[in-house]
Amino acid sequence: MIRIRRSAALWLAILLIPISAPAQSSPFDYTALRDEAVQLLSQYLPINTSNPPGNELATASWLKEVLAREGIQGQILDTAELGPGRANFYARLKGNGKKKPIALVHHMDVVPVTDSQWTVPAFQGLVKDGYVYGRGAIDMKGHGIIQLMALIAIKRAGLQLDRDVVYIANADEEVNGDGAIIFVKRHPDLLQNVEYLLTEGADTRVEGGKVRWFGIDVGEKRPLWTRLVVEGKTSHGSVPIGDQNPVPRLARAIERVSAWQTPLRLTPAVERFFKALATIETSPEGRKYLADPRTALKSQAGRAWLLSEPERNALLRNTISPTVLVGSNKTNIIPQRATAELDIRLLPDEDPAAFMKELRRIIADTSVKLEEIAPIPPRYDAPLDTELFKAIEHVAGEMLPGIPIATPVSPGASDRPSYAQAGIITYGLDPYLIPIEENRYEVHGNDERLSIDNVGWGVKFYLLLLSGMR
Ligand SMILES: [Zn+2]
Repeated sequence: MIRIRRSAALWLAILLIPISAPAQSSPFDYTALRDEAVQLLSQYLPINTSNPPGNELATASWLKEVLAREGIQGQILDTAELGPGRANFYARLKGNGKKKPIALVHHMDVVPVTDSQWTVPAFQGLVKDGYVYGRGAIDMKGHGIIQLMALIAIKRAGLQLDRDVVYIANADEEVNGDGAIIFVKRHPDLLQNVEYLLTEGADTRVEGGKVRWFGIDVGEKRPLWTRLVVEGKTSHGSVPIGDQNPVPRLARAIERVSAWQTPLRLTPAVERFFKALATIETSPEGRKYLADPRTALKSQAGRAWLLSEPERNALLRNTISPTVLVGSNKTNIIPQRATAELDIRLLPDEDPAAFMKELRRIIADTSVKLEEIAPIPPRYDAPLDTELFKAIEHVAGEMLPGIPIATPVSPGASDRPSYAQAGIITYGLDPYLIPIEENRYEVHGNDERLSIDNVGWGVKFYLLLLSGMR
């Protein structure tokens, strides 16, 4: 609760506010919440959840305790399924039920540290010079605490939201993603009707003291790792046996695959991402192409420019990189079998079966067999025209006036597809503004740290978002 002393200056300010935009007093004291969140983070970081082994039962118990103090009963889940010392955590703040729930999700595990490379303790929660230091400060305990603080602040303010807010903390994101996979599989009841989900993403760009864009991850390319297998006849290299030697046949298949120019396709998310890139592009022609990639792709010069950078090329099509090759291990032995592994990455909305059919047509040799190396992860591809997306846009616009929203399609793997598979519209974002020059302190780096300002920014971001969507 904040008390307002109505000084003359304030009255004047109130009189000057145009009627069309009435002043709204916030029920939140953002400075106090920031400081409290920093304190919580400096208690959360010392609980060592390096994965392996994870040890997330300790963080889950801590989260349960913190929420219990606020009158929110959390649940420690999946301990048997995840193994000794491990757990998922779940809590829910009820809304009035007018709209479907929204889930705030983070992972409790962190990547291991090499102590000798840290100049501060990695597991102490040290607060120094305006920063909270420790493994997980950014990835992603800091984010988890920001979500927690927002939940607590809403509860304390007695704010009745239209949606339940579901709070989930998972184990094992950094290794196999088993926490989210098991949670989704075992608790359809807890996820029932959940419409939206927010978790990590990593693509807001702050450079040269300026925010260039605010990123909302809306999809991931899907790895479709495939092995080409050619069976032949083993014999001595001194007597060639033509195509019964599997090696030249495999080599021809690799060549066809490598020469294949897969079709170009501009998804709405990538189009929007390119438009944000246009704002930082230095060459005038590049700016023109990025600002209107749909038109650029129709001209030869525009297409060539867009494809000239491998990262952009990879966002515009399905890609194939031949990587592991296995034939004989002796110069004079023709092997019985030769194999090549392909790192295939599909655009988020691609149909894998249709793609494989096309790949077989390109290889054009039925003696080349295609084997699955690993099952393809679930599709994760969120729409851009939802209430949540618009609400994020609105809040980002208020906190960062004039800054574009970018919608990158991320090349990395995360827990997001596991939740998307459950039918939940999932977005990834980081509620921080971290300058690119600070990359050394970034995700998985040494001396990982999050500034106190960023903690405050994140809490405010979530509170404006959740209270604005009510
Ligand atoms: Zn992470």
